[in-house]
Amino acid sequence: MSAVDGLNDVRNRIEAAARQAGRPEGDVELIAVSKTFEAEAIRPVLEAGQRVFGENRVQEAHGKWPGLKQDYPDTELHLIGPLQSNKTKEAVALFDAIQTVDREKIARAIAAEMKKQGRTIRLYVEVNTGMEEQKAGIAPDDCADFLRLCREELGLSIEGLMCIPPFDENPGPHFALLRKLAEENGIEKLSMGMSGDFETAIGFGATSVRVGSAIFGAR
Ligand SMILES: *Cc1c(COP(=O)(O)O)cnc(C)c1O
Repeated sequence: MSAVDGLNDVRNRIEAAARQAGRPEGDVELIAVSKTFEAEAIRPVLEAGQRVFGENRVQEAHGKWPGLKQDYPDTELHLIGPLQSNKTKEAVALFDAIQTVDREKIARAIAAEMKKQGRTIRLYVEVNTGMEEQKAGIAPDDCADFLRLCREELGLSIEGLMCIPPFDENPGPHFALLRKLAEENGIEKLSMGMSGDFETAIGFGATSVRVGSAIFGAR
């Protein structure tokens, strides 16, 4: 299957899942995750009209996206992988959204860098819903305090919450937990669901799904 066939298939599946969940058309945004794929593999997907993309490494994105963005200026680029503080400057300059605000140090660095560059980008807090030791993200119990710090002390506007459920678990309870945390904290957007579980995530209220391999093929 070509990436464009994959894209069309994923779009249809998103619409079907939204309809089944009783949600209006266009309620769920597709973030096409293009990590590990070269610019030439991404172009046909841009040509087919997709404009929102996710990358997980600042360096890799920097290598291919400035050129692509020049050709497709209305493209929106989301960072969905961990951010090292020494890459904050580059990330704030390149990305339109950072979905992986996962600790105080990085929140402070992003706030300072946005001010310095006079640039506002959209921010999501990553929540470690499975409390996995090796995984980034704020613990669910710390989420309210962390959001308060971001909003009140750092003056950051947090658009949404993001999670990556444990690989080997039923994702439903994790999506439900993320939704509950969003509701408790007055947050509207939920970034959850990947190739294997985006339809489930839509049932639990995902407002954006991050889909890579179902579009571009195996990595
Ligand atoms: C790679 C990645 C995805 C996409 O995964 P697929 O299973 O290929 O759809 C989504 N979210 C994050 C954070 C990722 O790193």
